[in-house]
Amino acid sequence: MLFQRHHNRTTPTWLACLVLSMTSAGAAADSQNAEADSEPPVNLVAQLAEDESVEDVVQSEPLHNTKKTSPKAKAPAEPETTKSVEAEPAPTKPQQPRKIAPNVDLKEVAPMPEPEPEPAPDTEPADAAATDSAAPDESTATEESQPEVTESEPIPSETFTILGKEVLPGTSTRLAWSPNIQIAGLSQITPVLVVNGAHAGPTLCLTGAIHGDELNGIEIVRRAMYDLDPAKLSGQVVGVPIVNLTGFQQGSRYLPDRRDLNRYFPGRPDGTLADRIAHSLFNSVIRHCDMLVDIHTGSLKRTNLPQLRADMNNPEVAEFTKGFDRMAVVHSSGSEGMLRTAAVNAGIRAVTLEAGESLRIQEHQIKAGVNSLNSLMEKHGMISRMFVWGDPQPVYYDSLWIRAQHGGILFSEVALGDRVSEGEILGYVSDPITNEQYPIRSNANGRVIGMAVDQVVMAGFAAYHIGTEAEVPGE
Ligand SMILES: [Zn+2]
Repeated sequence: MLFQRHHNRTTPTWLACLVLSMTSAGAAADSQNAEADSEPPVNLVAQLAEDESVEDVVQSEPLHNTKKTSPKAKAPAEPETTKSVEAEPAPTKPQQPRKIAPNVDLKEVAPMPEPEPEPAPDTEPADAAATDSAAPDESTATEESQPEVTESEPIPSETFTILGKEVLPGTSTRLAWSPNIQIAGLSQITPVLVVNGAHAGPTLCLTGAIHGDELNGIEIVRRAMYDLDPAKLSGQVVGVPIVNLTGFQQGSRYLPDRRDLNRYFPGRPDGTLADRIAHSLFNSVIRHCDMLVDIHTGSLKRTNLPQLRADMNNPEVAEFTKGFDRMAVVHSSGSEGMLRTAAVNAGIRAVTLEAGESLRIQEHQIKAGVNSLNSLMEKHGMISRMFVWGDPQPVYYDSLWIRAQHGGILFSEVALGDRVSEGEILGYVSDPITNEQYPIRSNANGRVIGMAVDQVVMAGFAAYHIGTEAEVPGE
């Protein structure tokens, strides 16, 4: 009411307004007249008087004064509002307060991460800034990884800056990453969990669901991270449980453009959708890591024994694989565009952890994954769990795929993890029309490290992944 009246003060519509309010009041008075006699006219007068007095105040007092005395008066001042909107944020801008991330107890229901403000159309500056800030972080983190060696007093940690926020030592928080590929304001933010330990140490990054249908990794990241006590941690752990959020929501391995995100790292700021997402994640998160474990599952109805995929020709990566307890390590030099390949090229020790099957939550696979991450953190002096080691050394494998030679329905005779010998029947492909049974035999002595679940297959389908033990894999 107040706003309208003031707004229309100098225009003829104001009169109409007043007339309208009079007639409506009059109408009300008429209807009331039917029941009572004297009261309504008083009401009408009172109402008019009130309206007039308000009008008088607005007209008689300078707007600046009313603004100062009453915050409510802000709204009607139409020409002023545009000024004040511009004027208000101006003084706060130059200050640029430190963006300290809230200390959120990850074990409790935490608030949604604060989304990053939508940047200007060109994403370059933000990414460049992230890269810049990453460089010093990495160097300090590597220097700080001394407590592994020195058994004495732990060195206090420093503030960990990631995604434009400062995470104080001994705190945990939830941050937000967005590749900014959507309509402004519709951007989905991807939660990033960060635990900055009270003591200095290396930075470990965990990524899950780069393929949106691979669920075990999401749960592995959750359990590993929520089990950390910032007061006892040495170093930082950064977890992105669901990297491919759109794929996850649709139960799809791929990005909305049907591309496989894990073929586009480290990405490009001016390339395809996948290039841009990869570039953004790589620069704003991955470059902060000293170590990376990218968690996956088998694809296309195939399941994997919990295993690492690592380039054993890289000495640093080979050494890194020793930290994972009871894990089979399968040599794979990795293809161009894979996150682990790009990370290794950027000087980050990285492996892929495979566990189970897509679109499923598998308890024993998840436990194996969490166990191996705990052993890794213990090995690098990040946590102390009195960890009971299984095999002192992991078992290394070279691997080969055995394919179905006929179309039909695949029935397996072996299970994941079984040891098999050359010539042994692994399963059958049964032709439902001719009733022919075609056996699939192993062509090596080894272990079933991956296999297709029973399903309809066509000739050429990769059905069994056999790991052959190797002293020095990959050579
Ligand atoms: Zn995957």
